Amino acid sequence: MNRFNNLFIFSALIFFLTPFLSFSNSVELIPQRSHLQENNIALQLNELSETDSLAWDRPRFDERKQEREYLVQTGIIGQGITDPNVIEAMLQVPRHRFIPKEYQRQAYQNTPLPIGYDQTISQPYIVALMAEMLEIKPGDKVLEIGTGSGYHAAVLSELTPYIYTIEIVEPLGIRVAELYNELGYSTIKTRIGDGYNGWEEQAPFDKIIVTAAADKIPQPLIDQLSPGGIIAIPVGRQDQTQVLTRLIKDENGNLRTERVLPVRFVPLTRSNKE
Ligand code: SAH
Repeated sequence: MNRFNNLFIFSALIFFLTPFLSFSNSVELIPQRSHLQENNIALQLNELSETDSLAWDRPRFDERKQEREYLVQTGIIGQGITDPNVIEAMLQVPRHRFIPKEYQRQAYQNTPLPIGYDQTISQPYIVALMAEMLEIKPGDKVLEIGTGSGYHAAVLSELTPYIYTIEIVEPLGIRVAELYNELGYSTIKTRIGDGYNGWEEQAPFDKIIVTAAADKIPQPLIDQLSPGGIIAIPVGRQDQTQVLTRLIKDENGNLRTERVLPVRFVPLTRSNKE
């Protein structure tokens, strides 16, 4: 009888504590993938959706919100983007904070804009389209080649907390790292260097996005892609029309490519071309 009572008290304790335990999990910033898996188990028990259990730092900004809403209605939803998480990400990230002073008025137009050093911030529609092409799930590990203004990676950081981005132009890389600090995008890992070779120490990646055009898809990036992974990249020479391309690696490692849209991107440069 006594043993039964103890068991009853113990079960009741676990029952009442479970919501608190999973709540403390859900507000914690989770840098490790193993935590993620633990979270997923807790999640199934609680019958919550995956997004509910995985929470991470996503800063929020009211400034110029109406302009963002108008851009998303007309240039994102209006042009055929349907992924609700991508749409929400585009509503949240304050594009004007990634743009130089002299272009502030155009910040919410659906066009690319100069960011210095002969580089550009991509057109919002293309940012959303590439994010949608990657089919990012919370928990995916994503590598971006071409940090540029930092805007695209900020949008991706709304979709999963594991974002790695590489920029070859040092002052741009430094500026973005400082900006992320200031704005509170604390989950994004930045690096300065030639992204052609990927980020070996952090590989493999579930998704890889290249925001500069290459003649062909760099082999190191294909090698660093997980089975079941996706690469989104503009392919083509600067003097030709480039094609926004999706490469899919299936679970057996077989590759398949899809041509999505003709585009115009700045070139993927190399630090020490042979
Ligand atoms: N994603 C960016 C787009 C920037 S344009 C944004 O949202 O603003 C492409 C960027 O790719 C440029 O900043 C350019 O300097 C960078 N880039 C070009 N070649 C690169 C390489 N080999 N490795 C890393 N970055 C590269």
